[in-house]
Amino acid sequence: MSGEVKEECALAAVSLSKKLDSYPKGAAAFYLYKMLLQQQHRGQLSAGITTYKKDRKQVIDTYKKLGKVDNAFKTFRKEKFYGILNKYAGSIGIGHLRYSTCGADDVGFAQPFERHHGRRWKWFSFAFNGNIANYASLKKELADSDYHLIRDVDTEALMHHMSKQMIGSEKKGIEDVFANLAQIIDGAYSLVYMNADGELAVIRDPVGFKPLCYAEKDGDFFAASESVAFNGDGSMKVHDVQPGEVVLVSDGNVEKKRFAKCEKKAHCIFEWVYFANPRSIIDGQGVYEARQNLGIALAKHESQKMDKDFIVVPVPDTAKPSGDALAFELGVPSKEGIMRNRYIGRTFIESDSRAEKVKEKYSIIKSIVEGKKILLVEDTIVRGTTTKNLIERLKKYGKAKEIHLRVACPPILAPCFYGIDMSTINELIAPGYVKDIAEGITEEESAKFAKDYGVESLIYLPKDELAKAIGLPKNELCMGCLNANYPTPEGKRLYGSALENSKSGSKKRTYE
Ligand code: SF4
Repeated sequence: MSGEVKEECALAAVSLSKKLDSYPKGAAAFYLYKMLLQQQHRGQLSAGITTYKKDRKQVIDTYKKLGKVDNAFKTFRKEKFYGILNKYAGSIGIGHLRYSTCGADDVGFAQPFERHHGRRWKWFSFAFNGNIANYASLKKELADSDYHLIRDVDTEALMHHMSKQMIGSEKKGIEDVFANLAQIIDGAYSLVYMNADGELAVIRDPVGFKPLCYAEKDGDFFAASESVAFNGDGSMKVHDVQPGEVVLVSDGNVEKKRFAKCEKKAHCIFEWVYFANPRSIIDGQGVYEARQNLGIALAKHESQKMDKDFIVVPVPDTAKPSGDALAFELGVPSKEGIMRNRYIGRTFIESDSRAEKVKEKYSIIKSIVEGKKILLVEDTIVRGTTTKNLIERLKKYGKAKEIHLRVACPPILAPCFYGIDMSTINELIAPGYVKDIAEGITEEESAKFAKDYGVESLIYLPKDELAKAIGLPKNELCMGCLNANYPTPEGKRLYGSALENSKSGSKKRTYE
């Protein structure tokens, strides 16, 4: 995928049980900073936190800035960094990293979203990872009730719908608020929530699209999108928040409650294929192991007879475990013929020319690839522009003899309405080659694709290998973008509109 689709968002939450001075400076703010930093790969557009401190005038208070975690927290100036930690020091907190799938690149869209209210239980802050597929109807409902949306983004609509659930003078439990919301929301939402009563909740939608996990240690509670956020060394016992479950933390007590029935699980396959950090374990399945298994599965379908000229070159970094595993299985070396510049910032990313971007981001090591038959391993192909550019440069400047493209995921044939940045059919490359979405790509179609792409051969991972490699039953995974079998009614409906738009050649996003 090579950066064609940006990561999603990251969530973090913490509740500390001891006196604040027994923790590092900032307490909850410090742990949120650390957890967001470990999940930077999921979003680089903005970083934000809300913390709770009982005796602070602003009982819950939110800090958010554009940029990566270190920029937002100003770690380049020690006194500024500690100034932020001091100001937002607290015992409870939530945090968010954003990569936008909708909404502008403006700090007003950064999360958490705090909704102020004079009554403590109605004064809340929340952050979410996902996309509300039926946003258009939720927005209309608000407009019909004379609500005014400032930012026109699903987070804002969600905030108002939460507030609507709290109308009345009697305090409602968080699980009741979300039980009612689940009746009207269709889409993906892993969510962290807190209020000025000092209550914290972590919530996962009824099918569990996006990851969300938690752990407890010495009376403290930590939660995040990915286990790598707080458990990099594997010393904690991590639990996944189950689809339709809310984990509530109040006065140091942790309680699991069900706010919605889980009829069917539908975890997004892309977490294992591309998004998540390889050190994370999601829904019990290691990301690194899944990527290795994808490479092993690809090896079973290899059509070329290996000789001394073959090498495997994985497209860095996400395809590396699959590439290495493929190479091991085939008995050929895996080499870093393409190197990625890890220090490229957003200024460059904003550049207009796609080819220039790819060139700045990836360099070719000619001494590795010259005269070689390359098995080029990609994690997946979405729009195809980056991979094509790499292939052209491997041949033209690297003087590679042959390139055989191997893709560790089946073709992306349909859009995503649940928060991944590919929402129209016409922006995808594979649908232009595949006639029957149910059948998938045929040998003939692969050959035509390979010819247009300028490679000697092309093999995609067959569909039935994917769930096996991840290690979960097929019916517990969302594969909507592979087979148009969407797990929610609104996804099915939006696919119908996307097909219509596609016929008219439109790249209009279907959920706006
Ligand atoms: S449609 Fe594809 S990208 Fe979207 S949630 Fe499902 S598997 Fe993930």
